[in-house]
Formats: sequence, structure tokens, C-alpha cells
Amino acid sequence: MGDIIVWAEHRDGKLVSVSLELMAKARELADRIEGHLTAILIGDRCGHLAETLLHYGASRVFIMEDPRLALYQSDLYPRLMASLLKDLSPEIVLLGATSIGADLAPRVAAKLKTGLTAHCVDLYIENIAGTNQLIQVVPGWSGNMLIKIICPERRPQMATVRPDVLEIGKADPSRSGDIIRIQPEFAEHEMKAKTIEFVREESEGSSITDADVIVSGGFGLESAGGFTLINELAQAVHGEVAGTRPAFDRGWIPEARMIGQSGKTVKPRIFISIGTSGATHYTTGFLKAKTIVAIDRNPRAPIFGISDLGIVGDLREIIPCLIDELKNDVR
Ligand SMILES: Cc1cc2nc3c(=O)[nH]c(=O)nc-3n(C[C@H](O)[C@H](O)[C@H](O)COP(=O)(O)OP(=O)(O)OC[C@H]3O[C@@H](n4cnc5c(N)ncnc54)[C@H](O)[C@@H]3O)c2cc1C
Repeated sequence: MGDIIVWAEHRDGKLVSVSLELMAKARELADRIEGHLTAILIGDRCGHLAETLLHYGASRVFIMEDPRLALYQSDLYPRLMASLLKDLSPEIVLLGATSIGADLAPRVAAKLKTGLTAHCVDLYIENIAGTNQLIQVVPGWSGNMLIKIICPERRPQMATVRPDVLEIGKADPSRSGDIIRIQPEFAEHEMKAKTIEFVREESEGSSITDADVIVSGGFGLESAGGFTLINELAQAVHGEVAGTRPAFDRGWIPEARMIGQSGKTVKPRIFISIGTSGATHYTTGFLKAKTIVAIDRNPRAPIFGISDLGIVGDLREIIPCLIDELKNDVR
């Protein structure tokens, strides 16, 4: 038996969706180890979110509020969270793999002298040699395998989880629990680095997370001299353009349009992947697409293992044919 802690990240007075996704998974894990689920809220005027966290499965919520904590502070948040965690001695601590979670989690793990697995795509409990271990699943080995990581010798077991890979559970408004307010104590001089403003991410890629159709290209487009064919096909199918990491590295797409473990997660109706081998680092970003179409000249490319429709051939021949057909259809 042990506590599972979720850091409940919030912005503009609302919980970010990965926090609710984590609550559902943490509830499942807590039931499995017969433990308690605790959520931690840090910020200013965020206490109203505690009820929601109870409805989503927490049995208690700790709140630390102070106007100076309104924005994420990379010196203070880890310090405050680590000292609370030292008191609670939890088994497991989960955070969202957001830009803030990616800063907070390693700082907290270092203060607690424990391990951290970043960017997990799944979590579950396995009994190994008589002890319940958190299995932390991440894509690895060039993205060709899913790797299970455990932290057998240190506690808590800490992980960040990618947004949009877990499901949000159902809220139960009849659920109740303890809401505990803690007055955070810190001195101004502890804020060596001060966050003074949040600037929203360029909206350039925001359209892909809601897109109905996405045409995504990879390094295979090198043979076609770049992304012109992808852009033309996307236009023909009224889709959004996206790509793999090599496509971003080559400057064919902005970072906000990169799909995968370190990029965006999308759930379109149709996802067309062209000239991409299908590394799991990339495919974890669109596994929930309704229909996946792949075009690649290598019949053994792993992308065909997850696609609903695969076309083996040279993209320089196939894409122009597809565009012609689509134009004929319109005529
Ligand atoms: C920690 C970590 C995180 C990562 N995160 C991401 C991530 O978020 N997103 C991501 O995309 N990658 C990520 N990667 C990189 C990932 O592992 C792969 O290297 C990458 O996805 C491969 O991209 P690709 O498929 O475009 O290129 P390649 O693997 O080189 O595949 C190119 C494909 O194009 C095909 N091809 C070539 N020419 C033609 C042609 N004329 N016609 C048809 N097909 C052709 C080839 O057969 C091949 O299958 C990450 C790696 C690490 C280590």
C-alpha cells in the first residue's frame, strides 16, 4: 500500500487535459496497489480545482497558493513540491510531459534522489520478485520498440506522461475527499530565476491537433527535393501538413507540425504518412487516427504494420497520380 501523487497542472483557471488523463491512470494504479490517490495543486487562486480532482478520483488534494506562484517558477515549484513529497513518502509520482512538467519533474526527482522516466506512453503495475513495480513504457531503440523501465531501488517511482495518449476518465460528482491547504513558505531571494510572463506557442501548428485529415511526410521526401508534393497533396485532400523529426530537422516543417513523442499527438479521421519508416517515436503521435494510410518504397517498413492501407512504391510516382485522380474526381 502506498500513495500515488499526481501533480495537477492548470492554466488560465482550468486543469490541463493531461492532468485529467493522469488522474484516470493514477486511479487505476492506486486500485491495483490498494493505495490512495493524492493530487497536488500549486499556484494562485487554483483551490477551486480541488473539487474537480476529487470527482476524477483523488481521495485528497493538497493546495499551495500564493500570488507569487501564479506563474510556474522553476526554483520554487520543485522546492515546494519536493518538500511536500518528502513528508508524504509516496510510491509513485506522475506529471504531464508538458513544457512545465518537463522542467519540474527532473528537478523534483534530483531533490528526492530518485529516478525519472520521461515521456511515457503507458504505465501499469507488475509484481516483480514479490514487489509491485511501476512499469513505465517509452518508445526506444531508435523508436523501433516499446521499452519497459522500472525503478526498483528508489522511491518514489517518477514518470512524466505524454499528453493525449491516455484517456480521460468519467467524473463522479458524488465523490468527496480531503482538501488540505498548506501555506507555502519561501523567501523572495529563493527565486533566482523568475518567470515573468508566459508567451503562447506560435499558432502555426495548432491547426493540426484538430485537423480532420493530415498528410505527413518524412525523410523519404529528400528524394523528391523537399515537401512540395506533400503540400500539393494536402491541398488536394483539404488536409493539414505535418512530418517526422527529420522533416523538421531539414526545415520542411516548423516544430509545431512535428508528430511523435517529442512533437504533437493527433487524432484525425485520416492520417496519410509518406516516406516515413514508422519509428515508434513517430507513430505514438497518431496511433489514435481513425484510418492510417502509408506510402513507402520499402515493403518491410514498420509503418505498414500499423497502417490500414499501405501502398508500396516510389512516392515521386504515387503522389502525382493521387493528386491527378483527386483533381479528376472534382472535375
Ligand atoms: C528520444 C527520441 C525522440 C524522438 N522523437 C521523435 C518524434 O517525436 N517524431 C519523429 O518523427 N521522430 C522522433 N525521433 C526520431 C525517430 O526515432 C526516427 O528516427 C524518425 O521518426 C525517422 O523519420 P523518417 O521516418 O522520416 O525517416 P527514415 O526512418 O529515414 O525513413 C524514411 C523512409 O522513406 C522511405 N523512402 C525513401 N525514399 C522514398 C521514395 N522515393 N518513395 C517512397 N519511400 C521512400 C524509406 O523507405 C524509409 O522508410 C525521436 C528519436 C529519439 C531518440
